[in-house]
Amino acid sequence: MRLADKVAIVTGGGNGLGKETVLLFAREGAKLVIADFDEKSGHEVLSQVKDSGGEAIFQQVDVSNLESVKQMAKAAIEHYGRIDILINNAGITNDGLLAKLSKEAWQQVIDVNLSGVFYCAQAVIPTMIEQGKGKIINTSSVSGVYGNFGQTNYAATKAGVVGMTKTWAKELGGKGINVNAVAPGFIETGMTAKVPAKVLDKMKEKVPLKRLGKPRDIANAYLYLASDEADYVNGTVLHVDGGIVL
Ligand code: NAP
Repeated sequence: MRLADKVAIVTGGGNGLGKETVLLFAREGAKLVIADFDEKSGHEVLSQVKDSGGEAIFQQVDVSNLESVKQMAKAAIEHYGRIDILINNAGITNDGLLAKLSKEAWQQVIDVNLSGVFYCAQAVIPTMIEQGKGKIINTSSVSGVYGNFGQTNYAATKAGVVGMTKTWAKELGGKGINVNAVAPGFIETGMTAKVPAKVLDKMKEKVPLKRLGKPRDIANAYLYLASDEADYVNGTVLHVDGGIVL
């Protein structure tokens, strides 16, 4: 058990990468807060964890809303009394080429992917500082590191996540908090299901491993960075993308 009795908040824990992470962390002994906007999926994942003997609560959250995020952290403390791990994973896309991208689409993605990551980290650090230990893992993307057609807003947020990760690693390292990021490539989830099959086939061709990633590939990376095995890893961006950019 690599996370025995650790309390982990997973935002976006109801679907895709977050769901896979919740299920893996539960098997590794963590006590979970499944934090998602999507109540139905969140409750389904909660039942799955409980049915397999794990411990979890569901907390509905909109990470782009500061008050909602404060409630999420409060619920974790009220239920478990501590927060060891934050997987800052919730994120959205709303794509458009630069020439056509609306202000609304720009702002929506900024609010969730950038402000949301900031709000969630800020909400958990008082507890982690008091504990003298904690792990924050943010979710960037291959798009944030190398750019991607039609993703001005998304790439901006995911590059911003890298900047925040490195800044917080410097600010919080001395307080026993490790801050790292995972930058997934193209992974089979609801998010990539929106991408036309032709585009995904092209992406697959570009990956030296000749396949898209599975949610478990990312959950494994989150697990490593959340575990004690990564106690000396701080401020890094772990690229889990099959080598697509090589
Ligand atoms: P997903 O399947 O769409 O799941 C995301 C989850 O986050 C959904 O349950 C969604 O709820 C929830 N969510 C959306 N907005 C939220 C908000 N404001 N507050 C709380 N929860 C919210 O996405 P995914 O593919 O697992 O992506 C997870 C993370 O990995 C994201 O940050 C994404 O940018 C990043 N990523 C993914 C890929 C990929 O290829 N899949 C690649 C690089 C990076 P709803 O269903 O109600 O919207």
